[in-house]
Amino acid sequence: MRRTRIVATIGPASDSDEVLLDLVKAGVDVFRLSFAHGDIPSCIDRLRRVRALAPDLAIMVDIPGPKIRAGSFGTTPVVLGIGDDVELIEGFGESSTASTIYVEREDILEQLKPGDRIHIGDGGVSLQVVTSGETTTAKITSGGAVMGKPGLSLPSSILNDRLPTDDDRARLEALKSEAFEILAVSFVRSAFDIVSVRTVLSRDDVMMMAKIETGEGVANLDEIITVSDAIMVARGDLGVRMPIEEVPHLQKLIVRHGIRYARPVVVATQMLESMTHAQVPTRAEVTDVANAVLDGASAVMLSGETAIGEDPVGTVITMDRIVRRAEESFDYAKWGSSLGIQQIVGTGTQSTRITAAITGAAWRAAMEERAVAIVACTRSGMTARAISRFRPPMPIIAITPSESTARQLRSSWGVQEVFISSSTDIDVLCDFAIAQLKSEGIAQPGDPVVIMAGSSSGGTAVTDTVRMVIVP
Ligand code: PEP
Repeated sequence: MRRTRIVATIGPASDSDEVLLDLVKAGVDVFRLSFAHGDIPSCIDRLRRVRALAPDLAIMVDIPGPKIRAGSFGTTPVVLGIGDDVELIEGFGESSTASTIYVEREDILEQLKPGDRIHIGDGGVSLQVVTSGETTTAKITSGGAVMGKPGLSLPSSILNDRLPTDDDRARLEALKSEAFEILAVSFVRSAFDIVSVRTVLSRDDVMMMAKIETGEGVANLDEIITVSDAIMVARGDLGVRMPIEEVPHLQKLIVRHGIRYARPVVVATQMLESMTHAQVPTRAEVTDVANAVLDGASAVMLSGETAIGEDPVGTVITMDRIVRRAEESFDYAKWGSSLGIQQIVGTGTQSTRITAAITGAAWRAAMEERAVAIVACTRSGMTARAISRFRPPMPIIAITPSESTARQLRSSWGVQEVFISSSTDIDVLCDFAIAQLKSEGIAQPGDPVVIMAGSSSGGTAVTDTVRMVIVP
């Protein structure tokens, strides 16, 4: 089993029934639906179709936050040449050209000042504002080809909207009764942003994933992780808002922090970018995916490659091969023992500290006794996520009575989910776990297995039991 998960973004190249089913077969664990493109009814329609076709996978809905987009450049690349002048005009649904770029946001142009820098898309093309006022003009300082409706990155001082934006709010209202597991929140800058979005969605069966893509997001990482359920290293915007040479180091920092708090961490953007058009990725991209695995990422993500690429299924198959090979070189024992000093500390509640202590004990027992599997009986998924952060070499089996938890665990590193109709009796759970391991050929009589279970103490779920069972 591959242990690092694959997230694939769905778009026009991949939303037919046939391609979606092939993507599931190719090994996608999480389908990401960007709610930045299209109107709300068409986004919801796509969400329902994907849900129906992929009932066992997790669905991640990504809300755009204060992302500003340019009017469409169309489907054939438009070249913006270095040194050329362009005019920026406020307008919605208009077509941009090499000399006129429409900005789909009110009241933004008047805030620009001569000298301000604007990046288009994921940073290849940049402009510098020359005149502002009656007309806003800019000079291309880094040229390149653009197509579709690329994002415009403006100076952060202009992007001071609080989350959720009015647009996000309308999307969250429409999402309240839809079936999905993860909400990716763009441009999170503080814990307050996540708390506000969570309040508007008001659902406790949806994981909040904070996309870290601004300097403020990095500066407030700890407080953001504390209130989030998962994290994304959104390298596209991060690379235009922070010096680009910081990206690899921020990736390592964010991954380590997220795992320390038992949050799944997704590394995203441009992982196999050249495969949007080419059949074979660049050597640098292959190395990037492998390094993300070695950094400890829970999941690696494909964006344009599967949304608008020429071969979404072939790209997932390639990513799967790279990840499997990288996992052969992963030093599981070293990762787990270095995590010993990275328990969930400080801000953790008593129940998260107990869960950290019990899962730490379970990991040590499993390593010392060479257990063939670690079983986490879990209602919310917390126990499985907490043991997953140790990256144990043996399978992690999560037994859960919640179908939504089972799907959410598709974003966690190395967890195999098994559904059980509700039971709280630990002996019944252990017997079920052993039978399951035997039927899957994971355990034989005489093999040691570590089993963890929790209880609800004072209304709070806590993992309080660890057993070493010899398979009868
Ligand atoms: C990113 O910026 O890396 C990212 C994942 O966000 P989006 O694709 O929504 O721009």
